[in-house]
Amino acid sequence: MTLDEYRRFYAEEIEQVATLSSPALVEAFARVPREKFLGPPPWQFASAEARAMAAVGLTQAAYRTTSEPRHLYHNVVVSVDRAKDINNGQPSALAAWINALDLKSGDRVYHMGCGVGYYTAIMAELVGPGGSVVALDAQPDLAARARENLSGYPQTAVHTGDGAAFDPEPCDAMLVNAGVTHPHALWLERLREGGRLVMPLTLAISPTIGQGVMVKIVRGASGFSASVVTPLAILNGGSLRDPELEAPLRQALMKAMSTGAIFKLKSLRRDAHEPDESCLWHTPGACLSTNPIISEDIWT
Ligand SMILES: [Zn+2]
Repeated sequence: MTLDEYRRFYAEEIEQVATLSSPALVEAFARVPREKFLGPPPWQFASAEARAMAAVGLTQAAYRTTSEPRHLYHNVVVSVDRAKDINNGQPSALAAWINALDLKSGDRVYHMGCGVGYYTAIMAELVGPGGSVVALDAQPDLAARARENLSGYPQTAVHTGDGAAFDPEPCDAMLVNAGVTHPHALWLERLREGGRLVMPLTLAISPTIGQGVMVKIVRGASGFSASVVTPLAILNGGSLRDPELEAPLRQALMKAMSTGAIFKLKSLRRDAHEPDESCLWHTPGACLSTNPIISEDIWT
């Protein structure tokens, strides 16, 4: 088999395991060469599960070493910076999240935490030359690598900066690639009507890793709908996490996940209200609620 054939098989495998509904997304996985984004070999790779367990000290990190590009075409994470526990993430997980963004040709997308830019390239393929992807990474070395890796995609712009302060400007879709304690107000404000925000709401279970759920928020004409995409483990989003929210979030998310209430998530409320049983995660600026969308004239 040629490398192109391995890549095609990998794309079809991801299509099945991540239940992708977008044929264009499968094509993008079959087209974008993952090895080009990871620097020169050898590469270290592992299953996402082994990596997550190692991050909390349950096992030794079960990384293997390879110089064979075809080994990258499995559902594995590939190490980018071992010291900081940064990986090129699990393809089936990222594919499911990108699938949830419903990207269309011409869309403007924000990719927060772009790493080396592989999944940014996948999204650039989906929005096409008429769309654009604004990518951000807090680490200058990673942003520089992403910028170089994405030089063949003029519709991408890579910035270095703090995700808590960066203004992505109006977007049709946003993928947040680091665990957060709450949806940031600026993201919600920058989401165009019909815009989709996919972000990991997580509990920090180690200094680097968090566990929780990927939440999809859609801006409708009269409010924000919300739903759960997948459970997940992901890198903690440093400045994107509010230390004062950690303890109450732990309590709220543990309860919502252990009772299954999290899957009743329906909306994101921004109106001032007293917390009640419909509030899965109530913060002053944003509340994840089991109520359907509240009409806009109530909350503005
Ligand atoms: Zn509430």
